[in-house]
Amino acid sequence: MKAAAFDYRRVETLRDAAALLAETGGNSRVLAGGQSLGPMLNLRLARPGMLIDIKRAADFRSLASDEGIISIGAGWTHAEIEDGAIPDATGALMRFVASGIAYRAVRNRGTLGGSLAHADPAADWIALMAGIGASIVAVGADGKLARFSADSFVDGAYRTKLNESQVLIAVEVPRLSAGATWGYCKIARKVGEFASAIGVAIHDPQRGIARVLAGAADGPPVVLTQTGARLRDKDAQAAVTAVADEIETAMADHDKARRALYATAVIRALRQLNVPRESI
Ligand SMILES: Cc1cc2nc3c(=O)[nH]c(=O)nc-3n(C[C@H](O)[C@H](O)[C@H](O)COP(=O)(O)OP(=O)(O)OC[C@H]3O[C@@H](n4cnc5c(N)ncnc54)[C@H](O)[C@@H]3O)c2cc1C
Repeated sequence: MKAAAFDYRRVETLRDAAALLAETGGNSRVLAGGQSLGPMLNLRLARPGMLIDIKRAADFRSLASDEGIISIGAGWTHAEIEDGAIPDATGALMRFVASGIAYRAVRNRGTLGGSLAHADPAADWIALMAGIGASIVAVGADGKLARFSADSFVDGAYRTKLNESQVLIAVEVPRLSAGATWGYCKIARKVGEFASAIGVAIHDPQRGIARVLAGAADGPPVVLTQTGARLRDKDAQAAVTAVADEIETAMADHDKARRALYATAVIRALRQLNVPRESI
């Protein structure tokens, strides 16, 4: 099958894209890397009257940083992040996650912002960004910026806090200090496939970050606060022991086998905290 007919517009700024989204009242979609939208158009799961191409918008690939965060424009591709084309303030965690997304042809075009806005529950970036406590920044038709916490950005499968005319402009990722450790475990049937379960663990005592998360959970990723608290107390073994119990309650709507899969992913991520990064 091929896509239904649509109008095509290319914009110079993301605010222009937001204005066009508002003008067309829900009958248009922005086009970033096209790696999720392309197949949806071809399968006619999406039939927008207009595609708004944001790839050449001047502010699509912004990059800024201060002591606390690095702000990464929505348009950086998975491959660019994997290759270190932008500074990785997370001690190579972002590079590691990028390298596990799909395969290189998809990574060459797929964008950080496109992945977050698409909100596939099995996707990698939302799990990582929620896990690390990032903020997602969007621009509206009036030019106003809105900021969302990544761990509450996804409302459900393919649903986010973005309104009909907001365009995701950047992600503000907390900088990890040199002593920080992280673990990221993606369980997938084959390399290059979406995850069946994701475990994220990040411990940065210097910055007061101790966060643990289960991702690829059908809906929003699940922050495991009790396990994170044990990690904050520097008791990695207690954190490992807490995982299954917390998942049992926090993910009660998943069946037992899937809960076991999430617990495995999270425990593996926690165990990676003690492993030198180059061997993960
Ligand atoms: C074979 C295959 C395997 C894959 N495997 C994985 C995987 O293992 N892990 C993983 O995480 N992902 C995977 N993906 C998805 C891939 O990461 C996509 O790149 C990503 O989901 C979408 O990014 P995009 O830039 O291509 O967005 P597009 O396809 O252009 O857009 C996707 C959706 O988001 C909207 N959108 C895009 N950008 C913005 C923005 N800035 N603001 C607001 N809305 C926006 C679009 O309107 C559209 O609705 C896979 C894809 C394929 C085809």
